[in-house]
Amino acid sequence: LYVESPLAEGQSVGLDHERAHFLRHVLRLDRGDAVAVFNGRDGEWRAVIDGFGKGWCSLTVAQQRRVQSAAPDLWLLFAPLKKGRIDFVAEKATEMGVSRLWPVFTRRTDPNRVNSDRLRANAIEAAEQCERLSVPELVEPLPLARALADWPADRRLFLCAEAGNARPIAEAMRETGPCPAALLIGPEGGFDQSELDELGKLPFVVPVGLGPRILRADTAVVAALACWQSLSGD
Ligand code: SAM
Repeated sequence: LYVESPLAEGQSVGLDHERAHFLRHVLRLDRGDAVAVFNGRDGEWRAVIDGFGKGWCSLTVAQQRRVQSAAPDLWLLFAPLKKGRIDFVAEKATEMGVSRLWPVFTRRTDPNRVNSDRLRANAIEAAEQCERLSVPELVEPLPLARALADWPADRRLFLCAEAGNARPIAEAMRETGPCPAALLIGPEGGFDQSELDELGKLPFVVPVGLGPRILRADTAVVAALACWQSLSGD
């Protein structure tokens, strides 16, 4: 269970209505039962339920079960998609180990708003499900050009684009070797040619392909992440 509070032996942790409901009515836990908790900083702890009240639950942290491990360092920049598909992206990217989720608006991006609370809720749920000890950092959605304006010089940005004769992603990643990396996946309508030309001029951008077929944006996210994971082992 993801919690915000610091975790240490004896620490009490209060849960809100939604989480209290989940423990009591979905998992059917009761006072004295134990749950595993993590906060992205202090590892995983066993915590015991002290009691439930109207819309709350309190826990006491007992023993540490896992220490915080170094998380993979991979960012995912993606053009926001419609509801179900963006939920899928947040869930799968979290399961695949992404450290930072960054929605970026490209020229053909539709929709033009992101429900960050929903994105974060999906990422938390996926982190709990796959037992990772951190939730990806969710960065404020920005137009792509602004997101790239202060880009760290040592971080490669693998630009996934279906057009052109870009190298296969696995080949480009193998050649680049281990380094801080980010993936960029475009919108349902793809990148605009002038956008691709501008991106191609940036020194940290590595254009890559994911095979000869045009994948849906959400499929492209999973395909690119699977490739990165198989090479990095993270
Ligand atoms: N119209 C479909 C949809 O509704 O999702 C296809 C969208 S495709 C244009 C969306 C993005 O997926 C592209 O901008 C690109 O980042 C990525 N993509 C899809 N197929 C790809 C391929 N074969 N190689 C590299 N990137 C690809």
